[in-house]
Amino acid sequence: LALAAESAKLGLNVGLIGPDLPFTNNYGVWEDEFRDLGLEGCIEQVWRDTVVYIDEDEPILIGRAYGRVSRHLLHEELLRRCVESGVSYLSSKVESITESTSGHRLVACEHDMIVPCRLATVASGAASGKLLEYGVGGPKVSVQTAYGVEVEVENNPYDPSLMVFMDYRDCTKQEVPSFESDNPTFLYVMPMSSTRVFFEETCLASKDGLRFDILKKKLMARLERLGIQVLKTYEEEWSYIPVGGSLPNTEQRNLAYGAAAS
Ligand SMILES: Cc1cc2nc3c(=O)[nH]c(=O)nc-3n(C[C@H](O)[C@H](O)[C@H](O)COP(=O)(O)OP(=O)(O)OC[C@H]3O[C@@H](n4cnc5c(N)ncnc54)[C@H](O)[C@@H]3O)c2cc1C
Repeated sequence: LALAAESAKLGLNVGLIGPDLPFTNNYGVWEDEFRDLGLEGCIEQVWRDTVVYIDEDEPILIGRAYGRVSRHLLHEELLRRCVESGVSYLSSKVESITESTSGHRLVACEHDMIVPCRLATVASGAASGKLLEYGVGGPKVSVQTAYGVEVEVENNPYDPSLMVFMDYRDCTKQEVPSFESDNPTFLYVMPMSSTRVFFEETCLASKDGLRFDILKKKLMARLERLGIQVLKTYEEEWSYIPVGGSLPNTEQRNLAYGAAAS
């Protein structure tokens, strides 16, 4: 949506094809980056600073404000920008992209619909292998997995004015050291207030992806160790993000963008 709106603003004739789905993920962003994109109005909460814990109980201050994105406002704003700059839209899935004899790209969609264009940009996320060619023999894809909950709690030890980007303190240190060193995870904490908090246990990258049931168990054990009692669960999140892997082949005629570009 953002790329389509910006391209159309530059005078290109842009058509966007994709299913019309709501944004569901819980997004956190550096506030200055979103401000530079003119998207500060889509941030629903800002923490004045961000902290990281490694081993010590003393937090390391990053010195950068962090924001929680309003999924709804971001979706609305990007749609507004597309409408304003004249992007046309087709709600469909792309099945394939081929080339016509005149050199145009032919974008084949559902229900046998073909959309011709001069340049096809593929921004269909990490699983775009059907529409793009990737280099062979490159690094293997790893996976970042995370399990998160937005909850009402008692005894939250985290300062609600700070966002905890990574708490790497090992809460199971003495009990299962080999499991912990093989599967390091960290806690991500967005305190909406001192009692309503989003906690997420994340494995940054692993060959096969650390399983969600293990992440959930680790998160619950960590909360218990911290003395946090969960009173009510508002929302759960299961995050699966492929990381690394080969880059798109630069000889091809389709342009990769975003996670599709690796
Ligand atoms: C649970 C979760 C939480 C996350 N939290 C954060 C965060 O806090 N901060 C952060 O920076 N990043 C976060 N990420 C990562 C972030 O979501 C991705 O990096 C980002 O969405 C990639 O953007 P993209 O536009 O390239 O792809 P996507 O967001 O994956 O969008 C791809 C789009 O293409 C469409 N599509 C797919 N296939 C087709 C097809 N065949 N035809 C037409 N359309 C198609 C999809 O419907 C979708 O709209 C999170 C990811 C997850 C899963």
